[in-house]
Formats: sequence, C-alpha cells, structure tokens
Amino acid sequence: MFGFADIAIVKYTHPVEETQTVMTYVIAEPCINTKDTACVDACPVDCIHPKKDDPKYATETLLYIDPVECIDCGACVPVCPVSAIFALDDLPEKWNEFTAKNAAYFGR
Ligand code: SF4
Repeated sequence: MFGFADIAIVKYTHPVEETQTVMTYVIAEPCINTKDTACVDACPVDCIHPKKDDPKYATETLLYIDPVECIDCGACVPVCPVSAIFALDDLPEKWNEFTAKNAAYFGR
C-alpha cells in the first residue's frame, strides 16, 4: 500500500538541441505571382511578409515566412489556395532553394 510520502513528482523536460533547425515552414514556388494573403491573416505571430500594404508587396514575386518568428503552428498551410506552404521536412526537394529565399528576405 502506498502512502502520501511514497508519491514522487517527476518533471520531464525536453532540452532544445543547439543544432536544432530554426526554419520551420517555407513558402515555395506555387506562390510566385499568386501572393494570396490568406496565410498572412491566418498567422498568429505575424511572420509572413510582405503584406499588401507594404510597398515591397508590389515588387516581390512571392511571400516569405520569417524562420525565426515562425512558431511552427501550421495554420497557414490549409488556407493557401495554391498549396505553396510546407513544413521544412515536407518541402519537395525541387524547391529546396526556397528555404534560403524565405530566410534571406528577413536577413536571416
Ligand atoms: Fe505563421 Fe504558423 Fe505558418 Fe509559421 S506555421 S508562418 S507561425 S501560420
């Protein structure tokens, strides 16, 4: 029989690996010249740019996700009408270059 003194509370922690990849979600080729901004509205941390009211919206050919600010929630994926957004692990190899393109827009 266990008494109160026999109960142990164990906390589990998940230390962040220093080598962890920071880029989580990536906007790829299908966004080019589409630039639908449903993802901008869906993002809870406002990390997809440029927005329509940004002067850069007219000159950029696609939208980008800030790899540092993205919290990896996935909310942007189902709202994209051209299926341009991928978790990094799901990004088709032919669009690998978009990982760097997204990061470069934010100077990452
Ligand atoms: Fe924003 Fe979430 Fe999409 Fe990251 S995964 S860009 S936080 S909506």
